Amino acid sequence: METGTRTPAASCQDEHDPASLPPALALERILAAITPLTETENIGVRKALGRVLAENIISAINVPSAANSAMDGYALVGSDLPEVGTRDLKMVGTAYAGRPYTEPVDPGQCVRIMTGAVMPEGTDTVVIQESVRTQGDRITVGTGTAPGANVRAAGEDIARGETILHRGCTLTPADLGLIASLGQEQVMVTRRPRVAFFSTGDELRSLGENLEVGQVYDSNRYTLHGMLHRLGVEILDLGVIEDQLPALRRAFTKAAAKADVLITTGGVSVGEADYVKEVLEQTGSINFWKIAIKPGRPLAFGRIKDTWFFGLPGNPVSVMVTFYQFVQPALRHLMGASNMEQPLTLKVMCESRLKKRPGRVEYQRGILERDAQGQLVVRKTGMQGSGILSSMSQANCFIILPLESGNLEPGALVEVQPFFGLV
Ligand code: AMP
Ligand code: MG
Repeated sequence: METGTRTPAASCQDEHDPASLPPALALERILAAITPLTETENIGVRKALGRVLAENIISAINVPSAANSAMDGYALVGSDLPEVGTRDLKMVGTAYAGRPYTEPVDPGQCVRIMTGAVMPEGTDTVVIQESVRTQGDRITVGTGTAPGANVRAAGEDIARGETILHRGCTLTPADLGLIASLGQEQVMVTRRPRVAFFSTGDELRSLGENLEVGQVYDSNRYTLHGMLHRLGVEILDLGVIEDQLPALRRAFTKAAAKADVLITTGGVSVGEADYVKEVLEQTGSINFWKIAIKPGRPLAFGRIKDTWFFGLPGNPVSVMVTFYQFVQPALRHLMGASNMEQPLTLKVMCESRLKKRPGRVEYQRGILERDAQGQLVVRKTGMQGSGILSSMSQANCFIILPLESGNLEPGALVEVQPFFGLV
């Protein structure tokens, strides 16, 4: 069950809570509310991994800049290739990568050429060295090579004037290489958002402290730190705040003065000591939602002055699920990322029996792997409670079970969402 405070009867009714928001609608509202950051900075290409482009990258050059050989062999005039039999050609020189052969080449001649070397003037074809017999400065070519073969055209990767990357693109290692291949040293990206977070809960202890009965180590700040680090934002860890109104009020105000986004965990249920909602109503404006998902039903979203606020539930798995499904797209949107489509999902056969009640979208934790026949299949990790953090550590995907789905028997087709690095 989600929290220890609900009775089973109330919990069953809750499965059909008509006030619960479908997750897609909650995300839509979050993205509609947040306007992307407009401040940009110019940074070195190597530093730009994971950052969001704030400009279009337009190539000022052709890549490659000149036609060059794709193979080691002999550059020649295509019309010299024999249709039948063989032809002898005179070798007049050698072209290396970075050291071209600069004389024009006439019919009846050829140039020994290395991979990446510029095609000498007059040549348009490379015959690979394995297809050629040589004797002194004569070579013999046969049939089997088409005119124009084994040549990389100028601009075949990138043409001058082409837009190779668009504003809003999140830069990958391939993109960094692409930008470098244009000779560009700096790129303009959106500035990194500052994201502050703290945990709430009188039972929480930080690492290095001793645990007494009923206390737990604060793990949420570690999972959050890891996920935020991978998103490439600036991180402000504000520690643990006790379940006291004045302390929480102070923490909210302090965080809001420093950060673009504040994330808290815990204290958003309806228990005695769950003050987050109240404090938010006092210090800012709030949307408090029950979202029709499991785990992680209660989620507060709002604003304190200029700072966006996400109040995530306290249970460690709920934190990761709600972060992945809502906070992650919100932060990417804030950073100006344009590809906001949902992460890749796959339909695969599930080997486990899955318990599920209609009324909520469930994000069960799964292990996606190949079976003995090489087919992709998924099975669930063990217990699926929202406090079982080991299930997230073992899993490599979410098994997403739709709102109205009930129990599933082994062999059912299910939708899975691979973690792709963030979790
Ligand atoms: P709450 O949402 O504050 O009612 O917390 C729900 C459950 O999650 C409780 O069992 C808490 O002890 C646990 N919890 C809350 N915050 C954390 C945290 N930062 N690290 C580990 N467990 C937590
Ligand atoms: Mg709490």
